[in-house]
Amino acid sequence: MKESTKFPLAESEIPTAWYNLGADLELALAPPLHPRTFEPLGPDDLAALFPPSLIEQEMTRQRFIDIPGEVLDVYRLWRPTPLVRARRLERELGTGARLYYKYEGVSPAGSHKPNTAVAQAYYNRRDGTRRLTTETGAGQWGSALALGCAFFGLECTVYMVRVSYDQKPYRKALMRTYGAQVVPSPSPRTAAGREVLARDAASPGSLGIAISEAVEEAMADPGTRYALGSVLNHVLMHQTVIGLEARRQLELAGDHPDFVIGCFGGGSNFAGLAFPFIGLEARRPQIIAVEPAACPTLTRGVYAYDYGDSAGVAPVVRMYTLGHRFIPPRIHAGGLRYHGSAPMVSALVSRGEVLARAVGQRAVFEAAVRFAKAEGIVPAPESAHAVCVAIDLACEAAKTGGEPCILFGLSGHGHFDMGAYQSYLDGELEDYAYPAEAIAQAVSCLPGVSNA
Ligand SMILES: *Cc1c(COP(=O)(O)O)cnc(C)c1O
Repeated sequence: MKESTKFPLAESEIPTAWYNLGADLELALAPPLHPRTFEPLGPDDLAALFPPSLIEQEMTRQRFIDIPGEVLDVYRLWRPTPLVRARRLERELGTGARLYYKYEGVSPAGSHKPNTAVAQAYYNRRDGTRRLTTETGAGQWGSALALGCAFFGLECTVYMVRVSYDQKPYRKALMRTYGAQVVPSPSPRTAAGREVLARDAASPGSLGIAISEAVEEAMADPGTRYALGSVLNHVLMHQTVIGLEARRQLELAGDHPDFVIGCFGGGSNFAGLAFPFIGLEARRPQIIAVEPAACPTLTRGVYAYDYGDSAGVAPVVRMYTLGHRFIPPRIHAGGLRYHGSAPMVSALVSRGEVLARAVGQRAVFEAAVRFAKAEGIVPAPESAHAVCVAIDLACEAAKTGGEPCILFGLSGHGHFDMGAYQSYLDGELEDYAYPAEAIAQAVSCLPGVSNA
């Protein structure tokens, strides 16, 4: 009998609504605070940064939010995305585990990020925004937003973390191809950037610094707003098309996951895959978020109020954080170098409903190469964190004779990350475990608000 490997959905089965886990779980999120007064933020405080429709989505308790037709028209360019049973990898590992991956690398920008970028560009255009500013780490989010802005006729300025700007020239070229302006961060264009450069002219930058710059620029001009690629409730919600499709595809496969695994930077691809399985399944799988040992926000950070950016101009939110001044080592998974994390995921981790694991970058690339040889797709270094833990669980099953069903998110391809693969193959990749003193130091400068 021929074995099915792919579980295709018809175009008509693209979800027509996003799922809001906040409607089903009493997450009791602490209110976001104003960065100077530490008073709870009102919709007016957010109005300088975000358009009204996205502010409403950020706060809503509605369970399903209809996806606008113009956004669906764009989704149809690459959705539904494939769900693949990794049969060759299973055989290679000699495991009784069933491994499935949901592949978001088929989007034009090569990752899951356009799922929200397109929606954010649409709502901004509708609400009268002329230009969007944002930050980008590895360049994935910048490319996705540049694409969304191109589709909906917005200007786009991207602050790109310096180390990635130098490591990933082709990501930069891709953003410019879609019409965006790309600025290396820290830059002399903003007060936040100038302050960092005065302290360290050779600063590698960080997502926190780039966010400060993009936020500062958006606040200075009424026609300009800011877009964030992860962390916020509405961003996580836009990504739930991933998990909604995956549930349906696993149903077609006649299977049900025991584990759902996603890599974790700010939380968007993870939540997009996992939230529908957390909120909509009668039999909830074990859910695992995987982060780099070099930026161990969920496993070694503190659950406390902190600034979303490093200069302290962005809102203060309660989340797992390594401290807003934290500058992670220059690992290749640039998209996982954020000091904070999504408040919704943080709440789930603190309640033990989501498990977090940290892995070193050498183990990550070893898993990535193993996956590529067996399945053909070269994973983004970020996505390879999920691959790594999926392979670990499958190897464990091989030893114990277990037969778990494991679903993991393959959030993007690594075609722009071949420099990182080259370093790994040349034996030049290092593992960094962040020293405990450095973490203690970084979390010592949290804002002085009560976490009670
Ligand atoms: C940006 C990115 C991530 C990390 O961001 P999340 O918001 O945590 O999803 C993971 N994988 C890829 C491919 C990315 O581009």
